[in-house]
Amino acid sequence: MAKRNLKGNKTEYLRTSRTQIRNPAQEDAEFRRQVFAWYDRHGRDLPWRIKGDGAVDGYKVWLSEIMLQQTTVAAVKSYYKKFLDRWPTIESLAASERQEVMNEWAGLGYYARARNMHECAKLVTSEYGGQFSDDILELRKLPGIGEYTSAALISILHKKPAVVVDANIERVIARLFAIETPLQAAKSEIKKAAEKIFMRSERPADLPQALMDLGALICTPKNPQCTICPVNGFCRAQKEGIANDLPQKIAKSPKPQKVGFVYKITNDQGQILLEQRPDKGLLSGMIGMPTSDWIDRDENSTPSDLRLFKNSTLLGDHIFIRHGFTHFDLDLHLKEATVSNKQKQGDKYFWVNLDEFSPDSLPTVFRKAFRLFREHKS
Ligand code: SF4
Repeated sequence: MAKRNLKGNKTEYLRTSRTQIRNPAQEDAEFRRQVFAWYDRHGRDLPWRIKGDGAVDGYKVWLSEIMLQQTTVAAVKSYYKKFLDRWPTIESLAASERQEVMNEWAGLGYYARARNMHECAKLVTSEYGGQFSDDILELRKLPGIGEYTSAALISILHKKPAVVVDANIERVIARLFAIETPLQAAKSEIKKAAEKIFMRSERPADLPQALMDLGALICTPKNPQCTICPVNGFCRAQKEGIANDLPQKIAKSPKPQKVGFVYKITNDQGQILLEQRPDKGLLSGMIGMPTSDWIDRDENSTPSDLRLFKNSTLLGDHIFIRHGFTHFDLDLHLKEATVSNKQKQGDKYFWVNLDEFSPDSLPTVFRKAFRLFREHKS
């Protein structure tokens, strides 16, 4: 168990013994000075990032922030480039068809983001002259822009102080101030502590990006590198020997397990049947392969086949893909059938020529299924 040997106000940093006595504002300024000195030397070069006073393009900042929600930098880079190559301005994105946007987004997950992003582009173009407002409340009226993204736009785009707290910054702050409340219940405590760092920042655009990098590179979820951390002299968790124990999290209950069938339906014209998924629910608005209902695995029954595909053949009991969604895990067993292309399939299904079809335009769960079908080609 971590040793506890310090007392004090947890909304303040540790006062460092190696520095002269300063008032709290001076201490905050010294903390930021150390962060900026590190960031200027070691901060990441990212395609969407402009360090310091350089001119910033609101479209690029917004695009990157939407893509980075719940997604890693490594996963976002190629999508960011692909989107900018295809739609270099917000006006061009607004003028595109939604399905084109959804197809380009395929594989990045959390598909409601893509739909909201397209709606937001249309609104910003038609109502705001293609510019993102510098009023945080005005920004929050836009689809897909919540507390975090609005603060990031105010800070990174408009270079005004705002409290920007993503998962990396949340962790850094929980440790700096040794906040032991479990993360799920500590949001307001962390925000209050963050305010004192952010609201007087001399470089409002750089501070959140510097703290994000500190969290990604030094103050990592496991084994933070406190010995080389530029702000270790300010960090209560490090001094108390509890850095690795924070932030605390309430253990999650195991995810439900679901099961279903995914169908590869082809016809004698060399076409494959795809489904336009509904606008609401999981994978909304995306193109997918047809599936049965997904039922709880412990229901001790078998998913019902879609009536249309009653004659499809199971590839094998042990041939299935497993995919993790946020709230459950899904096993899809593979079934295939060849049908006549004249057979009525229903409005949501449509045929695509197999030689023109790329699984890259499908969400990851269907890419996995398509690849496995290919491996087991009969
Ligand atoms: Fe994180 Fe350690 Fe730096 Fe504290 S000293 S901010 S725990 S890396």
